[in-house]
Amino acid sequence: MKIEIDKGSGFCFGVVNAIKKAEQELATSPQLFCLGDIVHNGQEVHRLAARGLKTIDHERLNTIANEKILFRAHGEPPSTYEIAKQQNLTVIDATCPVVLMLQKKIKKAYQENAGAQIVIYGTIGHAEVNGLVGQTNGHAIVIEGEHNFDKIDFSKDILLFSQTTKSVKEFNRLVARLKEVKPPQTNFYYFDTICRQVASRIPNILNFAVKFELIFFVSGKKSSNGKVLFEECKKVNPNSHFISDLDEIDFSLLKNIETIGICGATSTPKWLMEQVAETLKSYVQQ
Ligand code: SF4
Repeated sequence: MKIEIDKGSGFCFGVVNAIKKAEQELATSPQLFCLGDIVHNGQEVHRLAARGLKTIDHERLNTIANEKILFRAHGEPPSTYEIAKQQNLTVIDATCPVVLMLQKKIKKAYQENAGAQIVIYGTIGHAEVNGLVGQTNGHAIVIEGEHNFDKIDFSKDILLFSQTTKSVKEFNRLVARLKEVKPPQTNFYYFDTICRQVASRIPNILNFAVKFELIFFVSGKKSSNGKVLFEECKKVNPNSHFISDLDEIDFSLLKNIETIGICGATSTPKWLMEQVAETLKSYVQQ
């Protein structure tokens, strides 16, 4: 049986950078706080927790003081930096440079276009999106799709941005629909701010998934990039299965199968995909 791991799957540079920063800090400190999961992958969070990384949520941020805290790749709104300052926290800022650039772009657009609406195509409540909305003092409108168009005031100009992990195809579809529904006098500007680390994964995963009889797609359930990539996988290979951990492998799927591909999201650790491959090999050899 042929079992292959996709070389193009695994952490993007933003996640690699955040983990590197955490590991560097933990090499000299017994503990480091992290605001939210450093990566949408339970196993990697667990691995770093064993080394002293303490994940807390925004509510707990107010309860710690004089500590070191890491802000992950998703970025944070200005209000979080304020709280960190008040609590005398030392911030290890691992905001991805791509997200940082987008935050600055949105902030500038908001400051320079009074009266226009900043619209963000993204997942409501997602950490990166909250960080982006924070650049506009909370005024940006978040839309998840056409069904949220009722949030937009079409008598005002619109500036549309995208969360970095959204699909380019869906973004373009949304742009086309907005052009159709907006009145002619409303100015509409749009900026494709999707991260190419994510966008380039789609053609890669399509090429990979089509080559195998069975695909195990490994990703944390909270990863939005994981959801997008898995959907793409299924389009070219309906025998694709989403797993988050080794115990989710359904071995009955291996019946009459000769080739298996293993791939994952930008938040999936390589070591986890290797463990999946090893588990499958051991099962086959039994
Ligand atoms: S997906 Fe892109 S924007 Fe998001 S953390 Fe990775 S490199 Fe940065």
